[in-house]
Amino acid sequence: MDASKYRMTFDIHTHTTFSHGTIRPHGKGTIEENVQAAIDQGLSEIAISDHGPGHLFYGMKRKDVPVMRAEIQRLREKYPQIRIWLSVEANVINNGGNCLDVRPEEMDQFDFVLAGYHFGTRKGHMLGNFRDAHHLSLPGERKRLLRDNTEMTVNAVLRNNLKVLTHPGDKGQFDMELIAKACAKKGTWMEISTWHDHMTVEEIRIAMKEDVKFIISSDAHTPDRVGSFIGGLERAFEAGLPLDRIVNVVERK
Ligand SMILES: [Zn+2]
Ligand SMILES: [Zn+2]
Repeated sequence: MDASKYRMTFDIHTHTTFSHGTIRPHGKGTIEENVQAAIDQGLSEIAISDHGPGHLFYGMKRKDVPVMRAEIQRLREKYPQIRIWLSVEANVINNGGNCLDVRPEEMDQFDFVLAGYHFGTRKGHMLGNFRDAHHLSLPGERKRLLRDNTEMTVNAVLRNNLKVLTHPGDKGQFDMELIAKACAKKGTWMEISTWHDHMTVEEIRIAMKEDVKFIISSDAHTPDRVGSFIGGLERAFEAGLPLDRIVNVVERK
């Protein structure tokens, strides 16, 4: 693939220092640094989508949301050449409700919501998935995890209006066909991550059989990675995904 032939138009999955860490921030750049990097990359839009508040180690603090909103308002005036959005990467969990750590009444604080599965949340089958990731599953556990992970993800998609399901397939067993069907039903874009290995080529092949669109995201945790898309595009093409099913990559003219 000749990467110079293609261009990313927008990147709506980036992290900043508002994704807190236990010792040092999980995201390394400020909102303004991510915005400047996006402008340098020639992007027309960027979203700040820090980890949802239910993440035990990296989550944003609920009280920071108005601070982030004010900062984005300031930057919109300072950088009118780019559209800047406040988003969140909510955590998919099994809470018996909307299956996210962002509550239904909190959704409107954000311009749109992304969600994905992560370790480090309560009610997320964390221990089982962590064991599985390290090949330490208990007897029968993988099958149960496949069912439970898929169920909470499908519910999170169907019970909310998610813009993007981030890195589907990452950090656990998931039934990609059922998840893609849910995304197709709701018009939720499935993310091909440049940062994570998922979606894999095989997962893209399964999902693309459904009427679903894909987005490539940098999932940048440092400003220098904002707008990176090559690795994701390579996997998409290897899977045989046509460019017009990817919402944010175009051919350079
Ligand atoms: Zn993530
Ligand atoms: Zn992320």
